[in-house]
Parts: sequence; C-alpha cells; structure tokens
Amino acid sequence: MWTQMGGNMLKAAFYSMIFLGSALMIYNIYGFSRFIRDLAGRKYFGRGNKLLRLPILLLIMFFLGYVSVGIFIRPAELIHIIIAGILFGGSIFVFVMYRMLSTIVSRVTENERLEAELHAAEQSNRTKTEFLSTISHEMRTPLNVIIGLDTVAQTEPGVTGNIKEMFNRIDLSAKHLLGLINNILDMNHIEQGKLTVKNTDMSLSHAIEQVSAIAGAVADQKGLAFVCEGSESITKHYTGDEMMIKRVLLELLDNAVKYTDVPGKVELHISCAPAGENRDAFTFEVKDSGIGIEESFIPNIFDVFAREDQSSTNRFGGSGLGLAVIKNIVDLMGGRISVESKKNEGSTFRVDLTLEISSLPFVPKREQTEEVELEGKRILIVEDLPENAEIVSDLLDLEGAVTEHAINGKIGVQIFSESEPGYYDAVLMDLRMPVMDGLTATREIRKLDRADAKTIPIIALTANAFESDIKQSLDAGMNAHLAKPADADLLYNTLKKCMGAANAVSTEVNDK
Ligand code: ADP
Repeated sequence: MWTQMGGNMLKAAFYSMIFLGSALMIYNIYGFSRFIRDLAGRKYFGRGNKLLRLPILLLIMFFLGYVSVGIFIRPAELIHIIIAGILFGGSIFVFVMYRMLSTIVSRVTENERLEAELHAAEQSNRTKTEFLSTISHEMRTPLNVIIGLDTVAQTEPGVTGNIKEMFNRIDLSAKHLLGLINNILDMNHIEQGKLTVKNTDMSLSHAIEQVSAIAGAVADQKGLAFVCEGSESITKHYTGDEMMIKRVLLELLDNAVKYTDVPGKVELHISCAPAGENRDAFTFEVKDSGIGIEESFIPNIFDVFAREDQSSTNRFGGSGLGLAVIKNIVDLMGGRISVESKKNEGSTFRVDLTLEISSLPFVPKREQTEEVELEGKRILIVEDLPENAEIVSDLLDLEGAVTEHAINGKIGVQIFSESEPGYYDAVLMDLRMPVMDGLTATREIRKLDRADAKTIPIIALTANAFESDIKQSLDAGMNAHLAKPADADLLYNTLKKCMGAANAVSTEVNDK
C-alpha cells in the first residue's frame, strides 16, 4: 500500500515537474527572445546581438529534452524522478538568471542612456556658447560702427541743438543695447560657471577715481548732485580684479542715477578697516535719494530678471539682469552685497569686500605721472573691416594722433617689421582676421629682433569680449584688451596708459 501510494506520489511529482518545468521553459524562451529583441534596439548592445541567440538555442534544446523525457521516460525508477527534478531546477535557475540579467542590463543601459543625454546636453550647451559668442561678435560690430560714427558726428561743426540731442540719444540707446548684450553674455557665462575673477595687483585708488569721474559725469548730465567720500582711506595697493570692482560700483551708481529724480543726490562712500594680517576690509556704499524700493521686493532684488515694476509702461528701461550679474561677481570675489531702502526716500546698496594687500609700493596717482598725450603719436591699426578701421582712425584723429592701416595680421607684421624702430607708438590689433589672426600677428611682432618689438604697446581691439579671449590676448603678448565698440575715452586712456608704461620701460632699458 505504501509503495503504491509512494509510487503515485512520485509519479505525480514527476509529471508536475515535467509540466511546470516545460511551461516555465516556454516562458523563459519567450522572455529571453523579447529581451534580446529589446537589446537589439539599444545601440550599445547592437553588435553583441548575434551571440545572444546562442542561449535561446540552448533553451530550446533544453525544452525539447523536457518533452522527450515526458514522452519517453516513465517514472519507474528514482533516477527518472531525479532527472525530472534536475530539469525543473534548471528551468527555475534559467528563470532567475534571465530575470537578474535583464535587471542588470536595463540598469546599465539606463546609465548609458543618461550619459548619452548628458553628452548631448553638453554638446548643445557648447553649441549655445559658440552661438552666443558669434552673435555677440556680430552684434558688437554694427554697434561699434553706430557708437563710433555717432561720437565722430557729434564733433562736426554743423551739429548743434536738436541734431546734437538726437545724436546724443542714439549714443545712449546704442550703449544701453551694448550693456544688455554684455549682461546676457555674462549671465550665460555665470550659468556655465565660466565667469572668473582675476587676482592681480591693482590700484584701487585709481579705480575709484575712474568710477567717480564716470558716475559724476552721468549724474551731472541728469542734473543730480554727486559726492564721493572716503577715497583717501585707500593708502595701499591690493590684489584683486580691478575691472570687476569697477563694474560692480558703476552698475550700482548707474542704477542710483537712473532711479533718482531731479533734484536729487547720489553718493559713493568708501571705508576701510584692517582685517587681519595682510588684508583690509572695504565697505563701498552707493546711496541715492531716489524712488526707493518696496520692502516686499527687496528679497528678490538680486534675482535674474527681477524688476519692481514689470509693466511695459515702466518709465525706467531695463532688463533686471544688472544686479543679478553683479551679485554673482561679488560672490565670486568672496564679498557680500546688501540693500536698505525706503519707498520714496532712497536706497543704499552696500558691498563688503576683503582685499589682500599687495607687495607693490603704493604711489598715489601713479598712472598720471606716466601719462602721455596722443597728439602726434603714430598708431598702426590692424583690422580687416575698413569701416571699423576708419572709425578708430577718426576717433584718434580727434586727439591729433596719426594712424596707418593694415588689413590683416600678416600685412601688419610686415609693415611693422619694415618700419624704423620707434616709428610706431602703438598697435591696435583686431583678433579675428583672414590670412593671419591678431594673436599670431602679436606673437610674430614680439619675436622680431628689433629694439621696440618687446616694448611697443599692442592693444587688442576686438568684438570678442569673453574673459577667455582677454586671457588669450594677454598670453600672446598684448598689453591690454578693449572690447568693441571701444568707448572713445577708454580707447584714449588705454593708449595713453600703455604708451606711458612702454616709455617707462624703454627709459629703464636705456638707463641700464
Ligand atoms: P534694471 O535696472 O535693468 O531693471 P537691475 O538688475 O539693475 O535691472 O535692477 C533690478 C530692479 O531693482 C530694478 O528694475 C529696480 O526696480 C530696482 N532697483 C535697482 N536699483 C535701484 C535703486 N537705486 N533705486 C530703486 N530701485 C532700484
């Protein structure tokens, strides 16, 4: 009886294992072939696809083995049951393996998909930056012509009264557009983490002098009073980014003038206190008696595109980018920017910045002692676009300088090398030019074996205004970098400063 019952149970176990195992194997074959089809669609596994057919073949053979065991073998002996058990275990094993494999592969391909997406995003970001760089170049070139011609036209004898006022408005609008382009480019750079601040020796007192002169003129033009206090507290040289500090203060002063109605007052206060060994803590306060800021808007004031009055009828033009950009610059310099304001009473923007004291000796108004006049100076303009060269030439003509023109870098190098040493006082060099670009031309000039090859000021005058371009031009041996459209005063001052420094160097060389 036991044997009878045991025999039946073994039989049942044998058939159920064969039956369930076959069913599982059919499922495995189906699942595995779907899995392989799926893989074939993914580009990373496309090539291994043929190899993966082998396991399917094995699974089919396994399945046929089942069927033949089910058909041809009777569960008469223990060994037959064991065979069925092994086959059943095999199906479960294949099932588990296939599930694990499919999970692993889907994770791997998911990672690869994300990597591919990241790569595509990076690529598109690169394309965007290149696009912005090209567009900025393209936009600056016509702006250069507009601002340059406008400056020259304003000096024409017949230009007075209403006409002069119109030219003035063209100038203001073009400069406004330029500011906007710069801010958009900067914001793009900031978002990509590419905006960097320099840490070089600088003259803070000179920077403040320039800022206060520019802001004073703008305030005066609007009929506002302007006061700059505390610049005498700067008695040392520091290391930092002079251009960025000027940029931050000018943006705040520009806003102060913009958001203050006549009669009103704009102030710049500077104070300085020691901040440990070799460092001084500066506070720059830009104060106005203007329209003030609503308390509820203050927390958002440094956000991108934040403007208190978003309406299109807003009487103050603007984009809401200026403060966002300078907040990022102040952060990069390790400083802090804050604001206090009362509606209809005025606002005070405060920048706290700690600067390292430079080892350079402090000579008050150093630059002025080196300054030279442009009258009679000979300047070589290396520029491929004749209209751009003409504008720069006209601007320099106003100051009495003499200019000559080379249409590309190669011709520039040739003209310079064929001239008598000391014939030219400076070179204004475009960067992007056919035949030979400005960086190569500068290196070629610096390599020449003649007395003035190393000392002649070479100033980049170009529509490429990215920080990386500035670094490239300085690395190539240029003395300064002016972004087009060059502001007339900035052009004159840069030339004077560079020529003054070159004179000092050549006197030093001659003295030795
Ligand atoms: P924009 O001036 O181009 O709109 P900003 O980023 O420079 O952009 O300023 C953002 C906003 O902050 C301005 O739209 C204005 O509402 C407010 N704001 C900035 N400076 C002042 C100020 N000195 N007085 C009053 N409001 C100001």
